[in-house]
Amino acid sequence: MHPDVAALLAVQDDDIIIHDIETTLAGLRPRLDAMAAERDRAVSSREQARKIAASEERRRQEVAARVSQHRAIFEKNQAALNHVTSMREAPAATAQIEQAKRMIDEDELELASIGRHLAEANRLVSERERIASELDGVQAQARDSLAADQARLEDSLRAARAVRDEKAKKVPRALLSKYDRIRSRKRVHAVFALRGGSCGHCDTTIPMQRRSIMLTTGAPEICEGCGMMVYVTE
Ligand SMILES: [Zn+2]
Repeated sequence: MHPDVAALLAVQDDDIIIHDIETTLAGLRPRLDAMAAERDRAVSSREQARKIAASEERRRQEVAARVSQHRAIFEKNQAALNHVTSMREAPAATAQIEQAKRMIDEDELELASIGRHLAEANRLVSERERIASELDGVQAQARDSLAADQARLEDSLRAARAVRDEKAKKVPRALLSKYDRIRSRKRVHAVFALRGGSCGHCDTTIPMQRRSIMLTTGAPEICEGCGMMVYVTE
């Protein structure tokens, strides 16, 4: 194998390592995004529960205020009945008392129902508060561990790039830039061995004439089928 090709293959090995590290690094982002989305969902469902509980509490206060009003009316009517002097006024006063009592009974029923809704709403609030805060704890750990992974991968990436740059100095500039051009089209592998007279990547036959040039010079050729670099192994 021509020493230039061997030097280029060493660079390609490093580039594959670099590509793997970059892929792993890029994979951390969706995990962070997924955690943020999960946290947003937990927070918004906790806020929704708090809103429902607050509105039940407002209703409870409204009805409680109405109960005190109705009790005041009831007491006033009762006091009025105590001062009724004629038998003619008594039925009207009694009817008023009965009406106030009915209103109070209805209020109490409504209060009891609101009380049940409020208890359920409050239970939901504490449950969702607990879920959100547990998630915070779990995610804090996961974020720390992801940040550590990220730092470690960035270190490896820097080191791998330094090694690669050093090896790249041993490859002739024209050959290296040809290789870089192929890789810049989102290729991981750019250099393939000739296999039985064909491109090791796409199996297109390399014409006899070009093959004999490759054998003479040892220089790689670009495959007409796939645009990859093909080299002779002997
Ligand atoms: Zn090919």
